[in-house]
Amino acid sequence: MELFSDLKLNPKILKAVKDAGYDKPTPIQEKAIPAALAGKDVLGIAQTGTGKTASFTLPMINLLSRGRARARMPRSLVLCPTRELAAQVAENFDIYAKNLKLSKALLIGGVSFKEQDVLIDKGVDVLIATPGRLIDHFERGKLLLTGVQVMVVDEADRMLDMGFIPDIERIFKLTPFTRQTLFFSATMAPEIERITNTFLSAPVRVEIARQATASENIKQSVVMFAPKQKDREPSEKRQLLRYLIDLEGKNCTNAIVFCNRKTDVDICSKSLNKYGYQAAPIHGDLDQAKRTETLESFRDGDLRILVASDVAARGLDIPSVSHVFNFDVPIQAEDYVHRIGRTGRAGRDGTAIMICSKKDRKNFSNVEELLQKEIPRTNFADGTSRCDEVENENLKRKSDIGCTEESTTENKKNKPKSIKNNKKYEKSNKIVGLGEHTPSFLSQSFSDRLVS
Ligand code: AMP
Repeated sequence: MELFSDLKLNPKILKAVKDAGYDKPTPIQEKAIPAALAGKDVLGIAQTGTGKTASFTLPMINLLSRGRARARMPRSLVLCPTRELAAQVAENFDIYAKNLKLSKALLIGGVSFKEQDVLIDKGVDVLIATPGRLIDHFERGKLLLTGVQVMVVDEADRMLDMGFIPDIERIFKLTPFTRQTLFFSATMAPEIERITNTFLSAPVRVEIARQATASENIKQSVVMFAPKQKDREPSEKRQLLRYLIDLEGKNCTNAIVFCNRKTDVDICSKSLNKYGYQAAPIHGDLDQAKRTETLESFRDGDLRILVASDVAARGLDIPSVSHVFNFDVPIQAEDYVHRIGRTGRAGRDGTAIMICSKKDRKNFSNVEELLQKEIPRTNFADGTSRCDEVENENLKRKSDIGCTEESTTENKKNKPKSIKNNKKYEKSNKIVGLGEHTPSFLSQSFSDRLVS
């Protein structure tokens, strides 16, 4: 593998990369940087965690190190789907451009227009923006995009999910035809393919294999959940979440709880706090200052549980957490790998526990299909497969929280098609339950919690 020093980057940039502690480029950096330095368009099919941010920031800084910014006419533009991602790209610029005098502005919602206007008026080398805010500035006549030499679209697939594609098209049309484009997406949906065919010119395609395998260090499990009382499903599900957190006890030093819906992120976080678990929500509808504050306290270890939506958490560079709880099965199977990848980083052990409701079963089999592996079902009692079949008075309590283990036949039925006849897989599919935790399950403190 090459070293950074083999890439034809400005020595001041190489020094900053070295100071950041990196010697060797990651595969996407190795391929994308030389192409971008040669002035070519790049289509990077890669996701967060591959080092893709530096794969576009480094060549951009190299290009910008020559020349000067003009008032209201940024020389380069990076579009990101969320404010946090934009802020993260801005941090990358600060790190890698620290030995050069480059100016930047961050155009994201939640920051006053006035502050941003002052910077743009002066002239900036890099403009990092979310699409909506950029268009707002443009429509107010404060900004001209005709000086953009390089444009980056980061996490295009998320832009598509968030309905930003028409904005992206509009922004492309406002920049010069001669610009260089660096375009990144984790997947190539037909709509994204169309955009790249329209706006990229003979791009160098760099594809980093989709990460369909989770780290070996992550202990995964799933709890099949069926409420005892249908009308109390949401509260029983939250109760189950608290119970699962309790089971992990001290091992759970910090955790991210993922929910599919923003409303559930709020409700879950409030409910955890109500029961004395220290939690805070993060999702796209929350005020920027609050999101930054929450993330900081989570990073600093002051906050134990972050309750998040996928969009808000995507791409965030959060240090490793001990646990990931999937309150819902993600709608897109790839998100499962992203979510649980927050734990078990850098060779450390991690635990990923998921709750699967009846309505999640289809999504769940998509996840197993993607992983080509069955996720071990949590077995709550010693050898019992269905909670509600248990006679013992104490053990009966687990049916109160609606955890059911699928029957063996049902297990077989739900197994991903492509692994149904895989002998090797059958052998390795050991059900690792929480048997060792059974005593705490029966403890008084938990039964107290049940009456809520
Ligand atoms: P990204 O995919 O851009 O979100 O980067 C994921 C993480 O990899 C970030 O924490 C980066 O600081 C880190 N990183 C970027 N480039 C390298 C590299 N060449 N070697 C090791 N880590 C890197």
